[in-house]
Amino acid sequence: MKNFYPYTVLAIAVFVTVLFVSHSLSSMPSKVIETPYSTALELIEEDSVRSVVMDGDTLTLHPNMEKYVNGETAKTNGYAWVWKSERAGEMAHLEELMLTHHVQYEAEEPSSWVTYLMFGIVGCFLIAQFLPLRANPNQKIFSFMGHNAQRAENVDVSFKDVAGYDEVKGQLGELVAFLRDPKSFSRLGAELPRGTLLWGPPGTGKTHLARAAAGEAEVPFFFIGGSDFVEMFVGVGASRVRSLFQSARKVAPSIIFIDEIDAIGGHRTTAGQVGNPEREQTLNALMTEMDGFKPDSGIVILAATNRPDSLDPALRRRGRFDRAIFVGPPTTQVREQILRTHVNGKAGGKIDFSLVARLTSGMVGADMRAIVNEAALIATRESAKAILTDHFVRAIENVAVGHKDRSRRLSENDRRVVAVHEAGHAVVRAAQGRAKDITRVSIIPTTSGALGYNLNTPEEENDTLLRTRRELLEEVVHLLGGRAAEEVVTHEVTTGASDDLKRANLLLYRMVTMYGLSQRLYNRVTDEETIVFSEETRRTVDGEIQELLAGCHATAKEIVSANQPTVNRLAADLLEHEELSGEPLMGILREVARAKPMQTT
Ligand code: ADP
Ligand code: MG
Ligand code: ZN
Repeated sequence: MKNFYPYTVLAIAVFVTVLFVSHSLSSMPSKVIETPYSTALELIEEDSVRSVVMDGDTLTLHPNMEKYVNGETAKTNGYAWVWKSERAGEMAHLEELMLTHHVQYEAEEPSSWVTYLMFGIVGCFLIAQFLPLRANPNQKIFSFMGHNAQRAENVDVSFKDVAGYDEVKGQLGELVAFLRDPKSFSRLGAELPRGTLLWGPPGTGKTHLARAAAGEAEVPFFFIGGSDFVEMFVGVGASRVRSLFQSARKVAPSIIFIDEIDAIGGHRTTAGQVGNPEREQTLNALMTEMDGFKPDSGIVILAATNRPDSLDPALRRRGRFDRAIFVGPPTTQVREQILRTHVNGKAGGKIDFSLVARLTSGMVGADMRAIVNEAALIATRESAKAILTDHFVRAIENVAVGHKDRSRRLSENDRRVVAVHEAGHAVVRAAQGRAKDITRVSIIPTTSGALGYNLNTPEEENDTLLRTRRELLEEVVHLLGGRAAEEVVTHEVTTGASDDLKRANLLLYRMVTMYGLSQRLYNRVTDEETIVFSEETRRTVDGEIQELLAGCHATAKEIVSANQPTVNRLAADLLEHEELSGEPLMGILREVARAKPMQTT
């Protein structure tokens, strides 16, 4: 009887909402399928979409039922697709396509039942607050909701599903051993850190690793994500934290994982978050719980963040998150292993994994997964029997430079300029003795806005951490190769090189102010990109960058001039074939004269 009132009120609210939900559900899709950009394009192109609902950068595509009623793909009946824009330009392109295919826009997803639900909750909250007869006046009305939310997640991954990262697994392994046998740990008097922070760039597998640790230890996994705290009523976050710890204690040994902890644990003084009472209360509840539990309680707390320095220092104090494990970007070798892990289970053919891994330099685990998916989609679309290397190469291009946008027609003159520009980049790279690095040269515009591109694959391992001054300057020369070709061949410069110039400038700026690769300014190196230099230093920095840029530009022009017939030939072939790779490309690039090594000191 103790909780009689809250439950009655809840029951009424549930009844009312179920009524409305069931009423409006009839018009809602029974299932939504997440869809990559390429599929969204196709669906619209083949007129499979009747209407879309737009919510920020997310589109829900409702199927054109007539088409399916006519028996084309019966199984899609009642489904809708959702697609989330991740790259600039995609949305605009889709909208254009929707116009030509007469796809209707609908207002927001029918939110009436959501509104009713909110009314219901707010209503019973108010009623309960004012009920004088509440069984236990201290009991918060939301505590039972909190309990409902704190169920352990079903984890079906373990360390074997995390490719590479042996060191991280090793460090987590200690916690796993503790979870497997908490008693023996406390018997030996060993004390484990209470909170361990996993930190590193987005997509490197922090969340994945936390789940895998739970799977490895075979203990319940309690997940709470930073975004769960947003838009909650005041006090709900704190109460969820409390019940989270309560539930975890009941089934200990267990893991509590707080994903994106910066959402609640960011500096309290950060602008815009001042005096956010919900955040404050939640954070305090978390710290109180952490301080309160005994070392032998058998609970391990993990949290993840992209920016550990943005966390409230109080969270990093001893006895809280006093240990941090870095989860960095994967090396080429690890990228290869991640690929293998994800291809496993999907019908993989003969795949040159090492090539694919090299093509994805700079990418992280989440990208690897996306690429495997995209490659599988491309293979499916072509009804291929297995996923092949070429499917991967195209998937990477889609992810790296955007999808090919054949609908975009360039004028003949523009095409010629783009061909010359791209030929310039390629010839410079070849003159630097790295022709083999060029996987493809293309003048097909992409949805990311590029009018053409060189797809480069470093031949050597790109994981050496030290880069020489010469390498970086050669990179700048390569970036300027497109512009140089425009100047030498067409005697006119265009806006087409603006992105190259931006990148060249940024690279030189970093060389001078951060990497200590300047002749004169090595003693002015800082670790802040935004440091305020004195007027004099700034002038010197500017002067040095100008000088280096001018030198690189001259070198690029020299190379292009010395190889002008080759640039012309390559441009002509590009105009004819749109894309070149393999032997047709190498055949031309072999004519390029090797440039003398750059004088860099
Ligand atoms: P983070 O939390 O660091 O942003 P996630 O854990 O969400 O990254 O990683 C996204 C996805 O990428 C994971 O669900 C997993 O499928 C894949 N992934 C990342 N790293 C690895 C890895 N080392 N091995 C296998 N898959 C990985
Ligand atoms: Mg994550
Ligand atoms: Zn360019």
